[in-house]
Amino acid sequence: RQERYRELRDQPSRSRDGTELTLLMNAGLVFDMPHLEESGAAGIGLFRTELQFMVASTFPRTGAQQALYSKVLDAAGDLPVTFRSLDVGGDKVLPYLRVAQEENPALGWRAIRLGLDRPALLKAQVRALLKAAGGRELRLMFPMVSEVGEFRHARSIVEREIGHLERHGHKIPDKIALGAMVEVPALLYQLDELFGIVDFVSVGSNDLFQFMFAADRGNAVVSARFDPLSVPFLRALRQIVDRGRAAGKPVTLCGELAGQPIGALALAGIGFRSISMAPASVGPVKAMLHALDLGELGPFLAGLLDAPDSDRRGRSLRSLLTEFA
Ligand code: PEP
Ligand code: MG
Repeated sequence: RQERYRELRDQPSRSRDGTELTLLMNAGLVFDMPHLEESGAAGIGLFRTELQFMVASTFPRTGAQQALYSKVLDAAGDLPVTFRSLDVGGDKVLPYLRVAQEENPALGWRAIRLGLDRPALLKAQVRALLKAAGGRELRLMFPMVSEVGEFRHARSIVEREIGHLERHGHKIPDKIALGAMVEVPALLYQLDELFGIVDFVSVGSNDLFQFMFAADRGNAVVSARFDPLSVPFLRALRQIVDRGRAAGKPVTLCGELAGQPIGALALAGIGFRSISMAPASVGPVKAMLHALDLGELGPFLAGLLDAPDSDRRGRSLRSLLTEFA
């Protein structure tokens, strides 16, 4: 099996009827970088910068952050890397960061909230990223954005850091793309405003699913009751892709759903043309894609999402989609 996937590495990621999908991989440490070559992924769709912070016993200094980001960009060569700003807080605890005990950590002081309230932290990270990407492209996205104003605020921090580096004669990136993760349902009702100001969007389906169904992603007793391959969730995801396309802004998805062949199938069926997954999933997802007639799946899935429940005669969307895989 592994052999078969290795053979697929250099083959195009295209459906049987000729539609291209960009298959990216998720990473978080320098150790992950060789997987880029091995998997044949088209780039890093999500680089989780918090891992460096989580394995450290004190705050990594700006120099250490910059060194990591440089290594990652060097290893990726010409392939794009999308960094995510620090996504800590809640259950991702840094032993050296003192935070109050929270009753609902997933809904607590985490990710961009922490970054905006403690701007020194975010500024240092942004500076490290800008320096590491000097003379090349920087792609950066912010996690857990709930209001477009938070993205604007984060963007202004990046702009101020760019100004600072320029004044001090540092080389800044040739190109900068700033994006927001869609993980909080409130953003679904601000999509037009959001697409008006971001360069790209990446859906964090793990968190979006947990918040949409009010089901803790770490608690299988409740999360397993619900299925991401369900009408409400796929409708929400489809809405994001449709609005992104209308606005001419790229949309990708980097949660676990992208790495499950049946999940990737559904995502392709509702219009995603770029997804990011664990490196080991790239082969299996590409194999699924090669067998897929997307021209047939698209209208079939649209019918299921738009039809009243009764038309499915009690069968789940998942079981109907399985027949396509
Ligand atoms: C997500 O929420 O889907 C995501 C990609 O981010 P994380 O799993 O790191 O929260
Ligand atoms: Mg998330």
